[in-house]
Amino acid sequence: MQSTMMRVPLSTNALLERAGRYFATREVVSRRPDKSLHRTTYGDIRRRARQLAKALVERAGIRPGDAVATLQWNHAAHLECYFGIPAAGAVLHTVNLRLSPEDVAYVVADAGDRLIIVDDVMLPLWERVVPLLEVVPRVVVHAFSGQPVPAGYEDYETFIAGNAEDYVYPAQDENDAVAMCHTSGTTGRPKGVVYSHRSMVLHALASCASDLFGTSASDNVLVITPMFHANAWAMPYSATMVGAKMVFPGPHMAGPDLLDLMEGERISLTLGVPTICNMILQVLQAGPARTFAGPIRMLVGGAAAPVSLIRGLDGFGIHIRHAWGMTETSPLGSVSYTRPEDAVLDAEEQAKVRALQGTASPMVEMRIIDEAGAECPWDGTTSGELQVRGPWITGGYHNLPPDPEKISADGWLRTGDVATIDPIGRMRIADRTKDLIKSGGEWISSVELENAVMGHPAIAEAAVVAIAHPKWDERPLVVAVRKPGCDVTGDDIRQYLAPHFARWQLPDDYAFIDAIPRSSTGKFLKHELRRQFADMISRTP
Ligand code: AMP
Repeated sequence: MQSTMMRVPLSTNALLERAGRYFATREVVSRRPDKSLHRTTYGDIRRRARQLAKALVERAGIRPGDAVATLQWNHAAHLECYFGIPAAGAVLHTVNLRLSPEDVAYVVADAGDRLIIVDDVMLPLWERVVPLLEVVPRVVVHAFSGQPVPAGYEDYETFIAGNAEDYVYPAQDENDAVAMCHTSGTTGRPKGVVYSHRSMVLHALASCASDLFGTSASDNVLVITPMFHANAWAMPYSATMVGAKMVFPGPHMAGPDLLDLMEGERISLTLGVPTICNMILQVLQAGPARTFAGPIRMLVGGAAAPVSLIRGLDGFGIHIRHAWGMTETSPLGSVSYTRPEDAVLDAEEQAKVRALQGTASPMVEMRIIDEAGAECPWDGTTSGELQVRGPWITGGYHNLPPDPEKISADGWLRTGDVATIDPIGRMRIADRTKDLIKSGGEWISSVELENAVMGHPAIAEAAVVAIAHPKWDERPLVVAVRKPGCDVTGDDIRQYLAPHFARWQLPDDYAFIDAIPRSSTGKFLKHELRRQFADMISRTP
């Protein structure tokens, strides 16, 4: 028997049209660099996204499948790009504005970006990227600061000007690429993950389930997670789909600024990494008291949310919902939520359940695999590598050959996270095998740092491991062995590294030892170093 259902391709264009038709007056609010608030609506976002699409096709000659990049903060014009670029049949490539110029140049070349939309306030970074590029994409500048666009640059407003009500979306297959995001590589350069219309729409639909993100038309959503990292957890798509009011903080990420928006814009749902939650908690604890319109749900992921944070924010009416995911998983993988049977637990015990990384989302399968390749039991104690599979999980990387270290022979994504799963399917991240440090939600490659430190003429060998930091969660510690007769200091190494890394990636902590512990095969024993320096707290200010 054949299904009688229509074969309508899934497309993000349908989400934009829905918001424009049914939620035309719902607000989208953005904070500008001068802290003033810019207010627009989904009606306007739809109109301008279509104008952008038409301009890309007719003025810039963008063809289906071309990559068009953004180098932008979170704001309404970036939301227009989220929809307008795919509406041109092109692929939205969100470039991480915290990368070094070298890495920005690498990702722009890797994607083959034909055009890039840059916030005027990001031009200083962009101008350091241009000399590193063999092929420079067309540049369109968005006057985010409110100042005129600098001479010699094409103005975004002029570029999109005109009427696009007659614009017809290009025919698309639901498996066509819609967006692309680069994620840090342990060694070497960032790796591109490419999402499809189908994966993005399914992800948006699933994320709105009430046990997951629960996004609805009644929500006022503060999108703190950057739109250049894992699609801001795809909230721009899902909130637009359901017509939730969206509020963007622009570049202002300090705790008091975020709390002002939570109060003033009557926020009911927000999302961020634990570093942001901690900052918010500290400001709340210091007072004065804040008056929210009601309880606030806060989606937290990117790093583990500890029980103390969950309990602390509960006391101020901000209720953490802990999620696990990756750039590779769009990013929704699992969410932790209490079930009816947990109602008998006291608040502390419930917080422990909420601090797990949680239950796999519908359509996402999970398994844990031991070192011999066998599946581990779901007993809550046996740990192994977490592997996942599903319709919004990547099956490979852009421009890279298949790699069994990343995708298993039977087609599961190898996450590099070490996890346990309990008998009812709740997952807990126990460790990480990937050689990366997550500082304030963004990655630093320990291997890249090690290679650079070992280039110093006074260093014999060096390893880099993560140590704890009360604000940034993790920071890099350089453990180095000096060459005989050399008295190099941490400050010397820091200066030596400075030209090659973004400032926030530079280590502030250094330890000098006699020899790096090694395995019988000569590999650095990082876990041994992590254990040795387990009590060390980073001195990064
Ligand atoms: P990214 O692709 O940058 O979003 O990073 C994904 C990685 O962040 C995961 O593979 C984990 O190592 C880590 N991560 C994400 N969410 C959590 C979480 N809730 N708890 C612990 N680690 C997490």
